[in-house]
Order: sequence, then C-alpha cells, then structure tokens
Amino acid sequence: MLTSLKGKSVIVTGGSKGIGRGIARVFAATGARVTLASRGEEALRAACAELEAAGGDVRYEICDVSDWDSVRAMVDSTAAAQGGLDVLCANAGAFPQTKIVDMDPSEWDQVMATNLRSAFLSVKAAIPHFERAGKGRVVLTSSITGPLTGYPGWSHYGASKAGQLGFLRTAAMELARYNTTINAVMPGNIYTEGLQDLGQEYLDGMAAAIPLGRLGAVEDIGNAALFFASDEAGYITGQQIVVDGGQTLPESLEAIDEI
Ligand code: NAP
Repeated sequence: MLTSLKGKSVIVTGGSKGIGRGIARVFAATGARVTLASRGEEALRAACAELEAAGGDVRYEICDVSDWDSVRAMVDSTAAAQGGLDVLCANAGAFPQTKIVDMDPSEWDQVMATNLRSAFLSVKAAIPHFERAGKGRVVLTSSITGPLTGYPGWSHYGASKAGQLGFLRTAAMELARYNTTINAVMPGNIYTEGLQDLGQEYLDGMAAAIPLGRLGAVEDIGNAALFFASDEAGYITGQQIVVDGGQTLPESLEAIDEI
C-alpha cells in the first residue's frame, strides 16, 4: 500500500478523456484534489460529473497546453484554488495519422506543440509552485510509439513522444534543486473511448498481439502515474516505465503464437 495522496493538489492535462480521465480517476479515488485541464468544456464537465459522483474532489480548467499564457494561467489558478501544487501529470496529447509524403508541415508543428512543447510549458509553469512547496512530482505520458516502436503515419507523433524522454532527462537534473522528480509512463495500446468506433473484431486483433491478451485499461496508466507521485518513489527521477502488457516483447509474429 502506497502512502496516501489524500489532500494533495494534482493537475492532469488532457484529463477530460481517455488516459487522462483514468489518471484523474485513480488520483481522485485516493482523496487527492484534482484539476482536469483541456480545451473542450463539455467533456471537462462530463468528466468532473463522473468523478464527483464517485466522491472525488475535482474541478476543471479550460486550457490549450500548447499555449504559454493558457498553461501559466491554468497552473497558477489551480494552485490558488487547491492550496499549491504537488503533482503535475502532463498527459494531453494528439495523434493524427498521416504519412510523411502527405503531411503538411503545419501538422508536424501542431503535433510537436501539443505533445512536446506542452511538456516544457507545463513543467516551466509548475516550477515556482514546486519551489515554494519545497517539493513536487511530474509524470509525463509518453508512449511506446517513438521511443521503442514505429507505425506508419506517426512519424511526428513518435518524434514528439521520444522527444519527451529527451526533455525528461535534463529536466530531472534541473528539477532536482526543487526536490522535484519527473518520470514518464510509456503506454502501449490502451482502451479509450476513442477506440470504441474501431469495432470489436479490430480490438480483438489488437489484443491478440499483446502477450497479456488484452488492451490496457486507462487505470493501468493511472496506477503507474500514482506510483511515481507517491512518497515511495521519491528517489526515482528521470526514468520511464513501459506499461504495455508485454506488447513490445515478441521478436516475431510467431513468438506470439508460441504463448
Ligand atoms: P484522447 O482520449 O484523445 O484524450 C486526449 C486528451 O488531451 C483530451 O482530454 C483532449 O481534450 C486533450 N487535449 C488534446 N489536445 C490538447 C490541447 N492542445 N490542449 C489541452 N488539452 C488537449 O487521448 P488518449 O488516448 O487518452 O491519450 C492521452 C495521452 O496518452 C496522449 O499523450 C497520448 O499520446 C498518450 N498515449 C495514448 C495511448 C493509447 O493507446 N490511448 C498509447 C500511448 C500513449 P481536448 O481535445 O478537449 O482539448
């Protein structure tokens, strides 16, 4: 049992949907005070309603994570509302799928801004609050795509996710003086609302390629983030953990059939 995060002040960017909503659910269930930050207010309201119905202490901020003024305002206003900031989960991300030959350079820039610039901006905005508190925790949601694997159409996405890990290592050194750790979770294929449209047959095919035989649940990522945010993980920084049910392990298609 990890030390409770009850009463801790937590931000989850991209908390209105998918993995972010799962991370928020896991933290809220421990009694943390959680702010969900993303652009669409309707989805934010729906997520807050769900978490509040389960007894969570949650609120939301409308924020574009690629925009400095928006991120700084979101972090400062959250710290004011929640009595400081203990944990930043920089999770918001976008993954349009376009092959290099067809990709407009503006799409590359947009994905980099949403996935990579955002990590820098949110950490930068959080530093004064961690400095004031004398401690802090950052958890990035990276991916297996980019750092470990590739997929046609996701060159920009993969580069942004690998870039997050490059950022992480130097950020860990710079944040150490604020007694703050920063680590990354690298999800494999996680079941989110967005995948529902793909159909059961497609989802079964995805699950069959994963040694543990199922897609990940959003809470699987939330639990890994919770560990990095815990007191028990206080001496871990600049590190990454793959949460993929063994998806990246098979060295050939035949290897899966041997299971
Ligand atoms: P999702 O269901 O599409 O949710 C994305 C979240 O990010 C939403 O809350 C969205 O809200 C928010 N967001 C997107 N652009 C934003 C912006 N510019 N400013 C603020 N918020 C923004 O995606 P997901 O699958 O949960 O993915 C979450 C993270 O996990 C991403 O970083 C993704 O790369 C990573 N990941 C996912 C998987 C997977 O299998 N699902 C695997 C590996 C890594 P708005 O659009 O309303 O702003």
